[in-house]
Amino acid sequence: MSLSLIPQRLYERYDDITPALLHEYGVTLLLSDLDFTLAPTKVRRPDDRLRAWIANLHAHGITFMIVSNNRSGQRVREFCADLGVPYQGHANKPSRRGIRAAMERAHASPEQTAMLGDKLLTDVLAANRAGVLSLMVEPCGGAVTPWQKVLHALQEPFKALCRCRNSEN
Ligand SMILES: [Mg+2]
Repeated sequence: MSLSLIPQRLYERYDDITPALLHEYGVTLLLSDLDFTLAPTKVRRPDDRLRAWIANLHAHGITFMIVSNNRSGQRVREFCADLGVPYQGHANKPSRRGIRAAMERAHASPEQTAMLGDKLLTDVLAANRAGVLSLMVEPCGGAVTPWQKVLHALQEPFKALCRCRNSEN
C-alpha cells in the first residue's frame, strides 16, 4: 500500500484522458471523482462535452463509474442517472473502501483500474493506497474561494514532482 500523495499522471482536464491512453496502461475501469473533476459543484447536470467523453469511453470498452465523497446523495444520484453511469457514494476517500467496492462491482483488478480526481488528499491518496493508477486533473472552473486557492497552492509541489517524474520517463 502506497501512502504517496504524488499522482502518477497529471492532466489539464478530464477529456485529456483518452481511451488510447487508458488502453496503453491496461485500464478497463475508470473511476472518477465528480466535484471539480467533471463539473463544479454548482452544476446540476452533465454538459454535452462530458456526455461525449463518457460515450467515447464506453464505445472503446472502458467501464466508467463515479466514486464520490459527496454526502448530498441527491445531486450525485441525479447527475449520474442523467449521465447513465453507476456511482459509488459515501466513498470516504482517502479510504480505499469506495474504490474497492467499485472494482468489485465491475469485476476489475487494481491493475485494470484508474482513479481520476482533482484532490491529492482524497482522490490521489485513495488511488495510491488502493494500488490503482492515479490520474489528476486541474480543478474544473479553477480555484475560486480562498480555501480552494490555498489548497491549490499546497498541492502544487506534489504536482511538480509528478511532472518531474514523468519528464524523466
Ligand atoms: Mg473533487
